[in-house]
Amino acid sequence: MNLIILGPPGAGKGTQAQSLERDRGFIQLSTGDMLRAAVGEGTEVGQKAKAIMDRGELVPDDVMVQIISDKLDEIGDQQFILDGFPRTQGQAEALDTLLAQKKKALSFVIELKIDDAILVERVVGRFTCGNCGEGYHDTFKLPAQEGKCDRCGGTEFKRRSDDNEEAMRARLVAYHGLTAPLIDYYAGKAILKSVDGAAAFDAVTGQIAAILDEN
Ligand code: ADP
Ligand code: ADP
Ligand code: ZN
Repeated sequence: MNLIILGPPGAGKGTQAQSLERDRGFIQLSTGDMLRAAVGEGTEVGQKAKAIMDRGELVPDDVMVQIISDKLDEIGDQQFILDGFPRTQGQAEALDTLLAQKKKALSFVIELKIDDAILVERVVGRFTCGNCGEGYHDTFKLPAQEGKCDRCGGTEFKRRSDDNEEAMRARLVAYHGLTAPLIDYYAGKAILKSVDGAAAFDAVTGQIAAILDEN
């Protein structure tokens, strides 16, 4: 089974993809994480992507499609969940071609439905463990022990440079203009499943589990 998790910035894609990876053996393929790793390593892609990401705009389709194509080859036959890709009609069509070439298929596209009003607070309060990548939030999910990661015990945490109100506004414009149309694209292929992204962490996880279990 292979999935896409689709939704605006801060909807909970990474959180739910991590949970599916932990509980159900999917591999999370987060293009945002891949780009941030490239920025950290200072590769050619990373150097080009950094400014685009900080403005809250999208990295060009050809760059993203190449990254995902390589990643799909790397993971072999393991089941995957795409988090943050595709983000444009061009990427979605390129993905269809890639999957056909690689003899893979999508089972479902899980859409996290949520109002913009909630999203700014979600991203402005977001931080992650610098060691294992576990996600946290200033209001909604603090580590059980202050300053110590629940999962790995790490004590260094990171915040993203694009998790500020200004970049977030641009990210929402990009989402509504370029990414949201993919909801109809996948509805047309009859693989779209929508869940309430504004619900509590476990409630969202439960809605997704119900979809996977009943199919
Ligand atoms: P979010 O948590 O806001 O959904 P991501 O971590 O998925 O953000 O992505 C961060 C940034 O990386 C995006 O704002 C964009 O600049 C870039 N990016 C990630 N995935 C893609 C993609 N598929 N196409 C274009 N740009 C992307
Ligand atoms: P995305 O990958 O879609 O950008 P994240 O999974 O990183 O979003 O979630 C954004 C922030 O909101 C994180 O700080 C996360 O801990 C928090 N969050 C995620 N899901 C929920 C939820 N259901 N309720 C409250 N906060 C949440
Ligand atoms: Zn950790």
